Amino acid sequence: MIEPRSTNADLFEAAQRVIPGGVNSPVRAFGSVGGTPYFVARAEGPYVIDVEGRRHLDFVQSYGAIILGHAHPAVTDAIAKAAADGTSYGAPTQREVLLAELIAEAAPGVQQVRLVSSGTEATMTAVRLARGYTGRPRIVKFAGCYHGHADALLAAGGSGVATLGLSGSAGVPPSAVADTVVAPYNEVPELDDRVAAVVVEPVAANMGLVPPAPGFLEGLRAACDDAGALLIFDEVITGFRLGRGGAAERFGVTPDISCFGKVIGGGLPIGALGARSEIMETLAPTGAVYQAGTLSGNPLATAAGLAALDLLTPAAYAELEARAGQFADGLRAALTRSDFDAAVVQVGTLVGLYCGPVAEPGWIPVDYDDARTTDEQAYARLHAELLKRGVAFAPGAYEAIFVSLAHSPDIIDEALAQIADAAAASQA
Ligand SMILES: *Cc1c(COP(=O)(O)O)cnc(C)c1O
Repeated sequence: MIEPRSTNADLFEAAQRVIPGGVNSPVRAFGSVGGTPYFVARAEGPYVIDVEGRRHLDFVQSYGAIILGHAHPAVTDAIAKAAADGTSYGAPTQREVLLAELIAEAAPGVQQVRLVSSGTEATMTAVRLARGYTGRPRIVKFAGCYHGHADALLAAGGSGVATLGLSGSAGVPPSAVADTVVAPYNEVPELDDRVAAVVVEPVAANMGLVPPAPGFLEGLRAACDDAGALLIFDEVITGFRLGRGGAAERFGVTPDISCFGKVIGGGLPIGALGARSEIMETLAPTGAVYQAGTLSGNPLATAAGLAALDLLTPAAYAELEARAGQFADGLRAALTRSDFDAAVVQVGTLVGLYCGPVAEPGWIPVDYDDARTTDEQAYARLHAELLKRGVAFAPGAYEAIFVSLAHSPDIIDEALAQIADAAAASQA
């Protein structure tokens, strides 16, 4: 237990005076689940500890950026060591080369990599690159897929955009999305020669969890090839989480451009995009598509990322998938036992929860229309009861549930017992 410095309520009140909504990313404000956000003082393994000294068993895990558990010593040591050598130079470093080599080796279809500072920047750059490379204007995206907050990709986004019930965002002029076409997930759209790229979350993890239907990714690949469009996989969540080769490897479909973020930074701000050299060399300084970043390839972020990826061996992924399986199966059983209507979805190391009655046993959502029928009130009640019991799920019904390698089988069992209890209480 740490000395309480302040209360969550006091901090939230102060925060709302100086930060819009009191938070620096909307979903953190608990708007859709109600209640007061906990302010984190520190974190360790599967736990975050708030400023009141309360320990929460954490299934948020920085929305997927953390995979080894919080404050893993290999990562924190690497950051400390790197920090002692300086925190940003504006000149290239060896670790940037190592991280690019590692991503190129692991990710199907990737020969060159550009490092940026967030997932948003990665997808934004991928879109510009695809347009520059093909000389075409149009982008096809799928409803419920979230690709960060660049103007052109905000239409029908999942995640916090879904929680807020927004179809897009104010401040995005029609001209910015005039060349964005939104299609339903899991249906292969018709493409023509105006389409520069199709961008997709190969496993949709921002509208709950929606796996690609058999043939969907293969269909996109074929449709892009026929139309001369590029296929962009947004692997910001799935990259280095489903396995070293991400969804591309797991589903055996190679995209033209891959976007990364989250896991590859070991919890520090980072993003990356990669493709075959011919495409990547369209970027400045070799090509005419401009892109840059003061903090790109940051020495701390690359140190943290390399330290994390070093521990993500095939054995580590097998272990994480087993933990995710234990959690998903246990969650399904716990909710059933408590008569809580829900569908639990698992794709490898990823788990998702859909709240609400399902048409038949085994039903899972296949697109955004399905995903949005989730009972947000039921999720909010469950979320609140979980928090009372020291279990932190994401404060939004459309986020994935993240299990880390620090979630031991015993800790997962402990969580499942609390979840069964919370699910029952949430309906009382
Ligand atoms: C989180 C996320 C992004 C945006 O990444 P940021 O680092 O938050 O900008 C993009 N795409 C997907 C699939 C994500 O989950």
